[in-house]
Amino acid sequence: MKRVGVIGGGQLAWMMGDAAKKLGVELIVQTPNPTDPAVSIANDTVFAAVDDANATEKLAQRCDVITFENEFVDLEKLFLLSRQGVCFRPNLLALKPVLDKYHQRDFFQERGLPTPQFLALEIEKKPYQIKDIEDNIGFPLVMKSRRHGYDGQGTFIINNIDEFKSKLNFFPTQSNNFLLEEFIPFTKELAIIAARNINGDIVTYPVVETQQKQQVCRRVFAPAELDFSVLTKVNQIATTLLESLDYVGVLAIELFLTQNNQVLINEMAPRTHNSGHLSLDACETSQFEQHLRAICGFPLGNTKLTYPCATMVNLLGYEQSKNQYLEKRQQIEQLAKTHLYWYGKNKSRLGRKMAHATTLLDINDRSKAMAIANQIEAIWYPS
Ligand code: ADP
Repeated sequence: MKRVGVIGGGQLAWMMGDAAKKLGVELIVQTPNPTDPAVSIANDTVFAAVDDANATEKLAQRCDVITFENEFVDLEKLFLLSRQGVCFRPNLLALKPVLDKYHQRDFFQERGLPTPQFLALEIEKKPYQIKDIEDNIGFPLVMKSRRHGYDGQGTFIINNIDEFKSKLNFFPTQSNNFLLEEFIPFTKELAIIAARNINGDIVTYPVVETQQKQQVCRRVFAPAELDFSVLTKVNQIATTLLESLDYVGVLAIELFLTQNNQVLINEMAPRTHNSGHLSLDACETSQFEQHLRAICGFPLGNTKLTYPCATMVNLLGYEQSKNQYLEKRQQIEQLAKTHLYWYGKNKSRLGRKMAHATTLLDINDRSKAMAIANQIEAIWYPS
């Protein structure tokens, strides 16, 4: 029997619930609120913020291994626990480059992995290194909060110098906290979920195509329609990252594909990921089961698609409300081969991930998959 501590109690931890039962693993969750999704599936809960390392120390006393569904932790303090023998999987050194988007880009570049051109914005170097920016990145560019950005929050597309200056005026004291990078006119956005266990075995899931609106993931399609050479590159990137980080667990990688079939890494997430949710219904082993398998020392599961094609649609909040949207949920669930996961959040707000729906298709037909995604969105979002 393994007892797994999970830092974070959102939907990612909630979706580990069934896999934990299947594998005979206990989940003890560190999360601040009794209403957080994973509280309902946890065997026990430590009610505390994810960056409360004192709470993680208590969590460690009840667990064999600690993992993450949220990486916004107090890493320095967790390193102290690690030195005292607490087992973190993935290891904390693997988390280190992820917490700051600038460090992450640096990390990719140092390993020779392809990533967009970037630089850190340093406010002391007024007038904001305009020449550096023009020489190395140019406009349009993407300005990103180095820390705590997620779901597109803190990511801004800046078209010209005037927009750039007004953005800086908007954040006069925080400008050091931004990363600037070249805007990639990608043809597709891709993602791959990969896993490595303590023996060093590696598996990768089929590469998926993700589609975002206003920098937030709206839909995922599997499999991505790609040349073999691109698939190979993406898989190689995943393997290189897992091995160079001595990584244990599921790792998600988001990438851009350019017109000339170049693959650039956007970012990685040291945990299960939205782009892998369709594995719950469309793959032999879900990413959640795979993560538990990897960190508990079990053999890794098969990652194959069980259907020729699948699409996942995020159902995002579009209003401030306590509505549970039962009618809409039922309508979506009635669609053929469609599975809806309601995360049980008690309040909806703009852009909040409330649920997702995955539809399985008997033939690999992208236009059909797109039509189903449209249909789901038409039911969910008010016209
Ligand atoms: P977050 O961590 O908040 O999800 P990302 O860095 O993944 O932020 O950016 C969110 C989305 O913004 C991406 O999925 C992509 O659509 C767009 N984006 C981010 N960086 C770039 C870039 N350099 N060029 C073009 N689009 C980008």
